[in-house]
Amino acid sequence: MPGLQLMDTTIRDGQQSLWATRMRLGDMLPILPKMDKVGYWAIEAWGGATFDTCLRFLDENPWERLRSIKAHTPNTDLAMLSRGQNLVGYKHYSKDVVNHFISAAHRNGIQVFRVFDALNDIRNVVDNAEAIKACGGWFEGAISYTVSPVHTLDGYLEYAQQLKDLGADSIAIKDMAGMLTPYRTERLVKALNAEVGLPVHVHCHYVGGMAPMNIVKAAEAGAVIADTASAPLAFGNSHPAVETIVAALQESRYDTGYDLDLLFDIADYWEEVRKRGHYKRGVSSLTHMQVFSHQVPGGMMSNLLSQLEIQGATNRLDEVMREIPRVRAEVGYPPLVTPMSQIVGTQAVLNVITGSRWSIVSKEMKDYLCGYYGKAPGPLDKEILKKVVGNADVLPPDVAPGSLATTTFAQLEEEIGDLATCEEDVLMYALFPNEARAFLSKHRATEHVDFLLEKESSMTKEEDYVDINQIRELVKVVEESGVGEITVEEEGVRISVRMPGAAVPVAAPVYSQAAPVAAPATAAAAPAPAAAAPAHPAHWIEVKAPMVGTFYAAPSPTSDPFVKVGDEVSAGATLCIVEAMKLMNEIACPQLGVVREICIKDAEPVEYGTTLFWIEPMGQADQGEGE
Ligand code: MN
Repeated sequence: MPGLQLMDTTIRDGQQSLWATRMRLGDMLPILPKMDKVGYWAIEAWGGATFDTCLRFLDENPWERLRSIKAHTPNTDLAMLSRGQNLVGYKHYSKDVVNHFISAAHRNGIQVFRVFDALNDIRNVVDNAEAIKACGGWFEGAISYTVSPVHTLDGYLEYAQQLKDLGADSIAIKDMAGMLTPYRTERLVKALNAEVGLPVHVHCHYVGGMAPMNIVKAAEAGAVIADTASAPLAFGNSHPAVETIVAALQESRYDTGYDLDLLFDIADYWEEVRKRGHYKRGVSSLTHMQVFSHQVPGGMMSNLLSQLEIQGATNRLDEVMREIPRVRAEVGYPPLVTPMSQIVGTQAVLNVITGSRWSIVSKEMKDYLCGYYGKAPGPLDKEILKKVVGNADVLPPDVAPGSLATTTFAQLEEEIGDLATCEEDVLMYALFPNEARAFLSKHRATEHVDFLLEKESSMTKEEDYVDINQIRELVKVVEESGVGEITVEEEGVRISVRMPGAAVPVAAPVYSQAAPVAAPATAAAAPAPAAAAPAHPAHWIEVKAPMVGTFYAAPSPTSDPFVKVGDEVSAGATLCIVEAMKLMNEIACPQLGVVREICIKDAEPVEYGTTLFWIEPMGQADQGEGE
């Protein structure tokens, strides 16, 4: 009888937990053939945050990454983490997009699909499950594990049974925060074996050091697979070291049979990569260890810290840490895992830095409170519901949140047009429209220049009309500025560099002086034209950025801006979005008025306190309130 089997998480969760998901494909390739020899149950190689960071930070094509990894690990199954209806993004995608994505992932090399929903709402898992079963992948249904007054053993068993009913091949206990203890593990694994009867896979983050004990107890209780990472990417917020677990289980019936020498050989490689990249070892700080009470997963902590740093408020971490459990209780104890960790964490940060609880609420939090992410595990605070949700549309409980996402693959294909040359390109765009557009444009632009250069070099060499470096320079300018096209003329030669597929300039977000619109009743002084510093009438209202982030004038790159200069807007209407911490924070108009000036261009970064808009308030009479 085989002993405990292990899944290696080094190149997905290991680096996501410790290296902010910045590991490059080039760092992985040399060692994959050795990892392929260990005999792992699977190597977790893709999904989670890796797709996003490939595009956003690493300038890597996530699909090419997957294909390369698979080519180097022919003997081991590859696993990915899917966030259920959110796939590897942060919002719900339609059933059609889910189908395309899952089958493309399978085709490109994924065999094992671990699927979780942050709220353990089975409705968010159904489409994934069907797609995985349809393409012949292994469907591992994951329980997002947490501890709260509303989470019970029976609740977890019921959820596991729902996963089984969807055809799950195994059940993962996903302990992202490190809340499992050896005895909680034992109880849960035993009960799952007795009641559900599927292979149990434990995933416990190391954090407070419980994970190795949990794995031993899990094995004794009948779990058959556990997650580990190579030592240089283990411990701290990551997973237990594979070397520790393999050694611990030797001379027992759970012996993995893996070759420790080979594992240390692999560890040596990762240690070199770690040093070269100046990455820290996984270490559990006291703050991290207090997870036993605050429940904040390690990955979320580093995110919080960096966000507080950006907001210039690192000294307020303690307050934020106290605020998180409070917010979590108020909103029904969601497990703190993506996207709920970001949503709850950001709310706590906003509550602390604005000094006024729940005065600014992200669109995501509002959507969550309205039921758009799924069913909250526990009751929501009535006062907060009243304040935040008001009379906004609440999702009826019998409507599956994912069913509201209806954009089809074909529509997305049409939207992105020639910029996408294959199904994988379209899926990139489906999940991360802004990033994918930039990525695809850039890489098409590079192809375009290569073409130009080729053409140029085949032309008359002597006359050298066109300076190659000049073209390169131009391409750089085009890429960096984000403008669609630049043309220069020199000595009779005209060079145009265009980003193929660059978005047609949208009805530009206006950022000029107040437009000459018919002013409403209140006699506003006309803004002084061309004054050194434009003076704004004293009664105009300045709307400032409540946080550091990115300004978006429209809800999506293809839609109309929320407001234009001259628009009449009511109190509470959305003026723009400031994206921070991956959340779209809607900035509301403070009172009824007319937009007189939009001070920021679309997609530009804003600082805390940057002026976004000037609004001219409208008089009482204009509100039609009568007397
Ligand atoms: Mn994890």
